[in-house]
Amino acid sequence: MAKNVTHTNRVRADIIAMGTELTTGASVDTNSAWLSARLAELGVTTRRHATIADDLPAIVHEVSESGRLAQVVVMTGGLGPTADDMTREALAAAVGESVVLDEVALNQVEAFYASLGREMPETNRRQAMRPASAAVLENKWGTAPGLRMRIGGAEVFSLPGVPREMKAMFAAYVTPVVEAMEGREHVSIRVLRTFGAGESNLAEQISDLMAVGRNPSVGTTASEGVISVRVVARGDSDAEAKLLAQTDIDELRKRLGVLVYGEDDDTLASVVGKRLAELGKTVSTAESCSGGLLGAMLTDVPGSSACYLGGFVPYSYEQKSESLGIPMELIQTHGAVSEPCAKAMAERCRALAKTDYALAITGIAGPGGGTEDKPVGLVYIALADSAGVKVKECRFSERLNREVIRDRSARTALNMLRRKIAES
Ligand code: ATP
Repeated sequence: MAKNVTHTNRVRADIIAMGTELTTGASVDTNSAWLSARLAELGVTTRRHATIADDLPAIVHEVSESGRLAQVVVMTGGLGPTADDMTREALAAAVGESVVLDEVALNQVEAFYASLGREMPETNRRQAMRPASAAVLENKWGTAPGLRMRIGGAEVFSLPGVPREMKAMFAAYVTPVVEAMEGREHVSIRVLRTFGAGESNLAEQISDLMAVGRNPSVGTTASEGVISVRVVARGDSDAEAKLLAQTDIDELRKRLGVLVYGEDDDTLASVVGKRLAELGKTVSTAESCSGGLLGAMLTDVPGSSACYLGGFVPYSYEQKSESLGIPMELIQTHGAVSEPCAKAMAERCRALAKTDYALAITGIAGPGGGTEDKPVGLVYIALADSAGVKVKECRFSERLNREVIRDRSARTALNMLRRKIAES
C-alpha cells in the first residue's frame, strides 16, 4: 500500500562544479545534473548545486559551507596540473592543512604517462599533491587523481571534471560509500516514455496518482514531444521501494496503453529498431521537409543496418519525380505537400528500396512558404506496407519553429511505425 515516508536525519548532498569555463558559459555544467540523478537513485537528496569560478577564497567558502550543512559533497573539476586548478589548495585551506606530495599518486600519474609512451611533464607533479588528511583516489580512466577527505560533518569527494572520468570514479569510489551510509533513503526511480498525447491530456488520465505528497510521487516532463512519467517510490527497504514503484508502473501502463513506448533510455527509434529486428522486417524512408532527420534517428541506433535499408531525400519537385518516379502531374495537381504526394512517396520508396515498410514525410516547416490553404506546420506522413498506405495529416502549431516541426514530423513517423508493428 502507498504510504508517506519521512526521515528526520536524511543524508543530503551538495554538488560543487569548479571552473571559470563554467561560470563564463564557455562550457555547460552537465556533471551536476548527472550527479544529482545518480545520488537520487541512491536515496540521497541533493541540497544544492554550486558552480564556482577558479577563485581560491570562493571555493574555500563554498566547501566549508557544504561541510557544515551536507553529509556528502561531490566536487568536480579543478584537479588539473595548472595554477588555475586549485581544488587541492582549497580543500587544504578549508581545514587549515598544508598540501603534501603523495608518492603513490605520483607513481600512478607517472605510470599513466608511461602507458602512453611519454614522460610525465614536470607540471603534473602538482596532481600528486593532496591535503595532509586526504586520501588519493586513483584515476584509472585519465590523469587527474581524485581526493576524499572529511570536512565538518561531510564526506567530501573531489573528482575530475571530464565527464567520462567523473562518472567512472563516482561509480568506483562514491557509490559504495553512499550505499553504506545510515539515513540514506530506499528509493526506486522508474521513467515511462510516452508519445502521442499532450502533457495536460496525459496528466488528466493519471491525476490521482500525481497527487502531491503521495508515495510514490508521480510527475510528468515534456521534451521533444516525448512526455515522460517519472515514478519515485520510497520504502523502508530497497525491495519495498521497488515493489511500490512496480505497482505504479503497472497501473500507468494499464491506463496509458499504446501511448507508452518504453522506459528509461528507450527512444522511439530504438524501440522501432528492436521490434523490426525481432520480426525480421525492414524499413526505408522518403523525406522532404525533414531532410533526412528520420533516417538519422533510425541510424542513431547501433545495429540499425539490420532493419533500416536507406532513404531518399527528394526536396525539389524534380527530385520527387526523378528519384522516386512520382508523376510530375500528380505533384502539379495536388502540390508536393498533399496526401496523394505523401502516399506516392511512401509507395514508390517501398517499391524501390524493396522493404517491408516505408515512411514518407512531406510538409511545410516554415517560417515562410505557408498559405491559407496550406499553413506552416501542415505535414503529411505516410506509412506503406504490403496492405496499402496510411496517411496522417498533422497540423503542428505555426508558432513552433522550423526545427521543432521537422523534429516532431520525424518522431510522429516513427510512432506510426511503432504502433503498426507493436502487435504484429
Ligand atoms: P583534467 O586534468 O583531466 O583536465 P580537471 O579535474 O582539472 O581534469 P577541468 O580541467 O576542470 O578538469 O575540466 C576538464 C574538462 O572537463 C573541461 O574542459 C570540460 O570540458 C569538462 N568539464 C569540467 N567540468 C565540467 C562540468 N561540470 N560539466 C561538464 N563538463 C565539465
